[in-house]
Amino acid sequence: MKRIALLTLLGLLALASAAGAAEKKMVVVTSIPDLADMARKIGGDLVDVSSLATGVEDIHAVPMKPSFAVMLNRADVVVVLGLQAEHAFMPALIDAARNPKIIPGAPGYIDGSTFIIPLEVATVLDRAQGEQHPMGNPHFNLDPVMGRDIARAIADGFSRNDPSHADVYKKNLDAYLTVLDQNIARWEREAAPLKGVKLVSYHPDLLYFADRFGMEAVGTIELKPGVGPTPRHVQELEELMKSQGVRVVVRERHFPAGLAETIAQQTGAKLVELPVMVGGVPEAKDYVSFIDYNLQAMLRAVQGG
Ligand SMILES: [Zn+2]
Repeated sequence: MKRIALLTLLGLLALASAAGAAEKKMVVVTSIPDLADMARKIGGDLVDVSSLATGVEDIHAVPMKPSFAVMLNRADVVVVLGLQAEHAFMPALIDAARNPKIIPGAPGYIDGSTFIIPLEVATVLDRAQGEQHPMGNPHFNLDPVMGRDIARAIADGFSRNDPSHADVYKKNLDAYLTVLDQNIARWEREAAPLKGVKLVSYHPDLLYFADRFGMEAVGTIELKPGVGPTPRHVQELEELMKSQGVRVVVRERHFPAGLAETIAQQTGAKLVELPVMVGGVPEAKDYVSFIDYNLQAMLRAVQGG
């Protein structure tokens, strides 16, 4: 962080601690809005939740602001998606926040990937997945069944930090999982037309979504996670798409439009533009409506022609 930013930060920290006290709610800061939505559902009146990202960003490159370190300085707990998805900003911010309650390993550090078995885990000798996915693919928030696991990790973390309300967190978790399960059953029915449909995306954000709904993610426009495409890679991708009959090109909305559009045109595939987090489009106002938005957009693309 630059010197001026740091000075501003120190000033804000002083203000923040002067204003604090009074409230007894557990102060929760999440990296992304998906986690904030679940934290509100599970914590209810017992928590005061805010998210650093708004949902339109690249989870691997959320721009840091001095206010983020202030928020983290005042937090009782932090919730991250995990698998180093937030590697580009969370470690530096947690450092700057100087709050021992929320450093990795402390009780206040809640890892949303605790119950997740990741896909695309690279071995020590295989760096093929690039620098952005050192612990495997971290985009499991796009799969609502894995969303259940995220919610469980949050409820566990809340109980660990506030054991006297463990029964409330458990009850709220159960209620949330019931709602999620009802939607999952509906989504799985609605997803029938997607079975066996192949897709290409800009970055491997769609892996878990594709797995869940019977689609097949066969390639990315990026050369590898975090590494932009070369002309040769694009040519090979287009050939692969034609030979495999790939029908969908996904542009995650934080990536540029032009190339994804061209690739779709060249190969006769349909272009679908999707958010990768809650808040990525206005319709995706919470986790359920986020999954719903992505599934309905995919269905329109596949059924519409
Ligand atoms: Zn990624």
